[in-house]
Amino acid sequence: MNYHQYHPIDVVNGPGTRCTLFVSGCVHQCRGCYNQSTWRLDSGLPFTLALENQIIADLQDTAIPRQGLSLSGGDPLHPQNLSAVKRLVQRINCECPGKDIWLWTGYCLNELSLEQWKIVGEISVLIDGRFIQELRDPSLIWRGSSNQDIHVLR
Ligand code: SF4
Repeated sequence: MNYHQYHPIDVVNGPGTRCTLFVSGCVHQCRGCYNQSTWRLDSGLPFTLALENQIIADLQDTAIPRQGLSLSGGDPLHPQNLSAVKRLVQRINCECPGKDIWLWTGYCLNELSLEQWKIVGEISVLIDGRFIQELRDPSLIWRGSSNQDIHVLR
């Protein structure tokens, strides 16, 4: 997996103070996409074990408590991102108790494959659906268009 940006302290993408990772790779090609530079899987930088360890350490940092991790992109549920994302979310649930995981995907809940569901089963909140420009609503929190839903999973 590649990624575009990692923010160790973020107060915009989800509730509270968080870590946020923007991964590479998205097949949805939404018109008006805010982040077209992330569409290609080979864009950005390799997501290394060192960065994975850094995310875990940041979530464990008691000097600047984070509520959890936000995963966005790109699409963290792109089929080629699944193994790396799965390992990351499993590590967080194991090594960072009490931290939540929010994930943004262009897939709708009813389109997910079994492998994608295995990740959804590990996270706290899923925001699903493509961005539809005609349904864009700046008053919405944590989503760009009104077709997208916030699913609180646990
Ligand atoms: S799902 Fe998100 S990243 Fe992918 S094309 Fe749509 S708006 Fe852009």
